[in-house]
Amino acid sequence: MNAPLREPSFRESVDIMFNRAVRLMDLSPGLEEKIRVCNSTYTVRFGVRLRGSIHTFTGYRSVHSEHMEPVKGGIRFAPSVHQDEVEALAALMTYKCALVEVPFGGSKGGLRIDPREWEEHEMELITRRFAYELAKRDLIHPSQNVPAPDMGTGEREMAWIVDQYRRMNTTDINSAACVTGKPLNAGGIHGRVEATGRGVQYALREFFRHPDDLKAAGLDGTLDGKRVIVQGLGNVGFHAAKFLSEEDGCRIVAVIERDGAIVNPKGIPIEFLKTHIGANGGVKGFPRGTYVEDGSSVLEMECDILIPAAMEAVITIENAARVRAPLIVEAANGPVTAGADEILRAKGTVIMPDLYVNAGGVTVSYFEWVKNLSHIRFGRMQRRQEEAHSLMLVNEIERILHETGAQMNLSDAFKQEFVRGAGELELVRSGLDDTMRIAYQSMREIWHGRKDVEDLRIAAYIVSISRVAQSYRSKGL
Ligand code: GLU
Repeated sequence: MNAPLREPSFRESVDIMFNRAVRLMDLSPGLEEKIRVCNSTYTVRFGVRLRGSIHTFTGYRSVHSEHMEPVKGGIRFAPSVHQDEVEALAALMTYKCALVEVPFGGSKGGLRIDPREWEEHEMELITRRFAYELAKRDLIHPSQNVPAPDMGTGEREMAWIVDQYRRMNTTDINSAACVTGKPLNAGGIHGRVEATGRGVQYALREFFRHPDDLKAAGLDGTLDGKRVIVQGLGNVGFHAAKFLSEEDGCRIVAVIERDGAIVNPKGIPIEFLKTHIGANGGVKGFPRGTYVEDGSSVLEMECDILIPAAMEAVITIENAARVRAPLIVEAANGPVTAGADEILRAKGTVIMPDLYVNAGGVTVSYFEWVKNLSHIRFGRMQRRQEEAHSLMLVNEIERILHETGAQMNLSDAFKQEFVRGAGELELVRSGLDDTMRIAYQSMREIWHGRKDVEDLRIAAYIVSISRVAQSYRSKGL
């Protein structure tokens, strides 16, 4: 197939991928259409008095599918936010949640703003006002619509949002569950901040457990020593790069940021680079690597794994043919356009799709929501009981060793590690790891099991769409 001449928009890209999957499925055209379309988009324009005059802001909250409720998805703060983008992102949330079996429909929000232009107290006023507009219409609600962080937002914004919701719903006992990604002291959960990056790591680890899949990408061995390029060192890119380099032995040979890229074939120390960006506003001047002003050219550098972790549409019909990475891991939403996807597939590049790779965030959001509704921290009841149980076993083994006169003993390090009961963070990691493994296997089964499915993305869409279809059918649609 030839590449389309015109680059499709983000929303068209998602639709093209959806259509490619449903062509291989047996859905009635009516149901197909019902699943594909975005149910509703609310647009709000509100004014906030700042710096002596009234400033008008435009925000959106799209609900793509309510086959399960609440619907879920982040709120993005960026100057580029527009309705089409929010709708594409909401659709991706539907498929993402279905793929990792998180019981939510898909939604997404956005506010057209450059957060860097405003002071913290101004951002608070703006965020609270936006939250008020959404909560008033149940577009923020523990059982209807639960936002979370996305580009340009984080714990701070979520804390303002939950507080705003509480002020408007003073008797709602489940108010903490109206939004996820909150700071710990405002009802958050351990491990949520790094969850998406952690999920990227678990996704790659699972991919590397399957030699056939590695072979499809022309790779072999383990993650140790693999050359990785990361585009975007925001929350997702930073954590993915940090974990992959510090725990799996990957070499981060290049990091691409807004102001250019840093290249170092020996590997970039990620924490150090992050601190440098924080202090200098960009990567330029970083002492442990070579600065390249044209960051996008670095996407085309030779490597084993390319991780686009910032924005949509960074790999397009313009540059796709020159991208040399045999494996692309979509940590951002929509970084590869449908046109680029076609070019890359024809070249044999393996793409691990966004709806799988970055699903770690919403997975841990789900755990946070459950925690908020159950009003108890994970592990609180069983941790010490588990420890007592393990200690009994250790004591008994030592008693037997002693009685049989064996000259051996269990090491203190082993005993400590074995006896330690799981706290919230360990449980979150275990739940996330399990989720990422199972979701990969469900895609993989279709990818290898069906001759007409050529890539992981379409396999992922098929798994998700059939789950959403199932749930519409059981509703009698
Ligand atoms: N914004 C994240 C995403 O795109 C997280 C959504 C959530 O936790 O609800 O998946």
